[in-house]
This record gives sequence, C-alpha cells and structure tokens, in this order.
Amino acid sequence: MDGILNCTIGELEKIFENNGFPKYRAKQVFVWLYRFGSRAFDGMTNISRNMQNELSKMFYIYRPIIANVRHSSDGTIKFLFQLADLNTIETVFIPETRRNTICISTQVGCTVGCKFCNTGYNGFIRNLTAEEIISQFLAVKDYLKLWDSEKERLSNIVYMGMGEPLFNYENVLKSMQNLMYDENEGISRRRITLSTSGIAPVIEQLAKDLPCRLAISLHAPNDYIRSQIMPINNIYNIESILNTCKIYSNYHKYLKITFEYLLLKDINDTDECAHELIALLKPIHAKVNLIQFNQWKGCSFAPSKRAQRFSNILQKAGLEAPIRARRGVDIMAACGQLQSHGREERI
Ligand code: SAH
Ligand code: SF4
Repeated sequence: MDGILNCTIGELEKIFENNGFPKYRAKQVFVWLYRFGSRAFDGMTNISRNMQNELSKMFYIYRPIIANVRHSSDGTIKFLFQLADLNTIETVFIPETRRNTICISTQVGCTVGCKFCNTGYNGFIRNLTAEEIISQFLAVKDYLKLWDSEKERLSNIVYMGMGEPLFNYENVLKSMQNLMYDENEGISRRRITLSTSGIAPVIEQLAKDLPCRLAISLHAPNDYIRSQIMPINNIYNIESILNTCKIYSNYHKYLKITFEYLLLKDINDTDECAHELIALLKPIHAKVNLIQFNQWKGCSFAPSKRAQRFSNILQKAGLEAPIRARRGVDIMAACGQLQSHGREERI
C-alpha cells in the first residue's frame, strides 16, 4: 500500500487514469485530504462506494503517533511525534494575535552540524518522507480540532524545525506543493517560510520550482566568524549565499528574504560586527531577525546581553532589525532546542 500524502496532484491523476478512475476525481480526493482533513476514504461522500473501497485497498492516509504534547505558559504547544520506524520528531504550534504558525521538521537530526544547535549536535538519522512532513501540519490540526473552526486557522508554516530543508529538497518541495494545493483554502506561498543554513545551489533551484519566503541563517557578518560557528560556510560562503539571494529576489520581488542572526556572547555581538553587518546587508535592503541564543547542556556558547544595542545600531542605519520573541522556552520548544528523542535537559 502507498501513502497517498506522498502523491502530488499530478501523480495521483496519473495513478487514477492508470486504474480506470476519472482524472478529475484526484482533485476531489485532494480537497478531502487537505481541506477537510479526512483520515479515511469511506467518508468521501462525493465519491462512489466502489471507488472508496478501491482507494482504501490502494492507499493509506498517514498520521504519526502523538507520543507527547507539552503546553507552554505562553500558549506554544510542542508535539513529539513518533514515526513508523520509531524515530521521533518535534513540531511546534505557535499562536499569535493575528495568526497561528506551525514550525515543522524536515529531517530526523541534521547533517549540517552548526556549533550552537542541539539538533545538529545530536547527529543525523534520516530524511523525512513527504507524508511525514505534511502530516505534522495535518496532525496538529486534528489535535487542535481546527478543521472546521471558523475563527482559528493554522495560517502560517515555517520550515524551521529539525533538519536542513534544502538537504531533503524533493520531499520538502512535494510537501509545499501539497500544502499550497487548494486555491482557496491552501496556504499561500507568502505564508510559508523556509529557513536554511544557505545551500546556495538549491536556493537557486527553489526560485525556479516553487518560491516561498526565505529565511537565511546568516549568524555572522564575515566568513571568518561564520565558518567557526557554521562549518557549512566552508562550502557555501556568505558571498555565494548573497549572490543567490539576489537572483531569488529578482525572480520574486514580493517575497521578502529575511536574514536570521543569532547573537552569541563575544562571538558575533560586538558593535564592530553590527557595522560589518550593515555594510553587508544595506545594499540589498535586507531585513534582519535577531535571535537570542537558547542554551542547552553541552554547548559552551552564552546568550548575548547586547541584543537591544545591536538592534539599535542596525536600525539607526536603516535596517529593519527586530529581536525575535522567544516562544515556548519553558517546554524546550524554542529555536535550536528541538530533539529527535524527546530527551529534555535544561541547564
Ligand atoms: N536548518 C535550518 C532550519 C532549522 S534551524 C536553518 O538552520 O536555518 C532554525 C533556526 O534556529 C536557525 O536559524 C538556526 O540557526 C536557529 N538555531 C539553532 N540553534 C539555536 C539555538 N540554540 N538558539 C537559538 N536559535 C538557534
Ligand atoms: Fe541543522 Fe539548522 Fe541546526 Fe544548523 S541550525 S545544525 S542547519 S538544524
């Protein structure tokens, strides 16, 4: 049996045609899956009984097991999902006044190994399949009963959980295609943000395939500092990343790129660094998101106390530079704290 969530609309149409079903039925099934959150074929009332039965023999509709749910005092909810092979991943629901965001994972672990990141520190196990990525969104909607809620929507998706999305490109692309699918109810590309450590050639590919909002994890104003905290910089350095960002923005002017900058005490938080960052990003009118470092056991970096000052310097120079609100810190749901095995250690 195949997982139907792994199919794009085009693939499902082909399968239907090959099995003697009308092609247009694929769209109807997609609406059931992605607009109404169907978890079985037998409730798909505009499809004949016979076809419902055939579909249940051909496909399953995937959902992970909810192994744990933790609620933060600020409303953030962290889900620990168990996959079929018993690996686990984390997904975070972040309610805000005017929108609700879900932060989803794309890999079990990560190969990139940034020095400040707990996910990277724990190594890499495997890529997630498209259905495992998509079903994080669907399972959170199931859990929070958001399928027929008039006032509450799961409106935004950030690919900022565990893993480097651009190292699992095919499946990430499929997941975005499917989640965007429904023209009226689907999530628009302006509401999907993909965060990357800067895999330059794949960013260029994304610009052609399926542009969405981009967040680049820059974290340093020069290659010397960046290579120390993000070894991937030895392969894709700042210049190569900024060049692809220019191409991306030329293709898609309306999709603003943001640069994430994690402030680490005495590493990248000096006034000098702020001025270097201005020189780097001012010419491209970039927006900077300043991130506070979330500590974890075994990591020697310390959070910076200069966030406000750093932000002021950038803003005086005309760069937008808000300090990102920390959400879900009390349940270890903040950036860089997600783990694959549910072990939770605080210092
Ligand atoms: N791999 C992608 C997306 C997942 S990480 C990327 O690196 O962009 C999401 C964000 O969390 C990145 O900006 C990352 O640099 C940041 N992050 C990692 N560890 C962190 C920590 N300990 N404290 C705060 N942010 C962290
Ligand atoms: Fe991977 Fe992103 Fe963590 Fe770096 S910050 S190790 S790219 S998940």
